[in-house]
Amino acid sequence: MLDYYLHNDPGLPGAWSPWFSHEYISYFAAQSVSRLMSLPSVDVKPNPHYGEKLWPTGPRHIDLYKESYQDHRQLDPLWSFDYKKRNGDYAHEVPAGKSVEPWKILVVYSTEPDLYLDDDLSLNKNQKITGGSHGWRHMHFKIMGSNYGIAPQSYRVHKDLAKLSIDNGNDYWGWRYLSRCGHYLADLGNPFHVKALPGSFLIRKIFARHELFKIVSAIHQSYEIYVERRFREGFRPFADAIVQGAREGLNAQKDIDDMLRNYLKGARLKHDPIFYFFYEKFGKELLDAFADIDQNSPSDAATQINRCSADAAKVLFSTDHLSKLDYLDVVTGNMLFDVGMMLGILFNEFAVYVSQRHPGKT
Ligand SMILES: [Zn+2]
Repeated sequence: MLDYYLHNDPGLPGAWSPWFSHEYISYFAAQSVSRLMSLPSVDVKPNPHYGEKLWPTGPRHIDLYKESYQDHRQLDPLWSFDYKKRNGDYAHEVPAGKSVEPWKILVVYSTEPDLYLDDDLSLNKNQKITGGSHGWRHMHFKIMGSNYGIAPQSYRVHKDLAKLSIDNGNDYWGWRYLSRCGHYLADLGNPFHVKALPGSFLIRKIFARHELFKIVSAIHQSYEIYVERRFREGFRPFADAIVQGAREGLNAQKDIDDMLRNYLKGARLKHDPIFYFFYEKFGKELLDAFADIDQNSPSDAATQINRCSADAAKVLFSTDHLSKLDYLDVVTGNMLFDVGMMLGILFNEFAVYVSQRHPGKT
């Protein structure tokens, strides 16, 4: 259906790899939207810093400009778990005289919200339950009637910022904000971002909160590792699911905001079966890979979890376990279809918006 799998696309420099799940998802969704793919390049411009009082960025965040890069290393994609470590180094200042196609902006900046953008902020007294301010902005779930996390708001804020940038003639940042927006929208389709744990499991472990936190984080992270590894192997069914979802979304001509509720519901319904699948099929062997995680450690949960990722990948993709993954492949394909549908509609909506703002340029 498509010419390339992201990591084989000759139009993308090696300095941008290794690639991560959000980039694969954005890539396949973008490739499905012909109106987006045909948009002309935009000039790289400085960040307009809209709404920073309302929506502060993490103090350690730096806007990198990947349009200007130097190749330095050849990392092994199957064993890369840190978004900050790539084959190239990128400019910290706005590079002069550079332009880039909008679809590439959507792809290469889609992991930015998982760097320091949302870290080290005090957003809510309950943010510890999502592992800190980062999780707070990337998740949205209920536990015993209370809501935790504001991912739907993260999605809406970035959509507004994207429109504002385009209205003010900064298309480059319009697409960068949209890339971030797409990240939160994709997170909302991930079962582990819209549900924390099965209710029955909470009741079983309610007096062992520390153990509960460890198991929930370990299974969430294992699922992310599994999905990412499949993409990096060039797993066709996942690419096809996103492309088919995006195409169906465009044909249906539906509105994302009307669909959001059912989209979250669909993701939430997939949570418990996936959670128990990992817990029952991999059990102690998998949980042991995450044995060093400590909720009270000074380094944040995400940093600690990354260290365990390689060990977990060895368990999940060991030859003994490979045949177990069929079930996950099917459920995840269904999930990616929904994510592709939402991103396809989002990207198309903006391609139309931009074309209307600048008629005659396409
Ligand atoms: Zn995220």
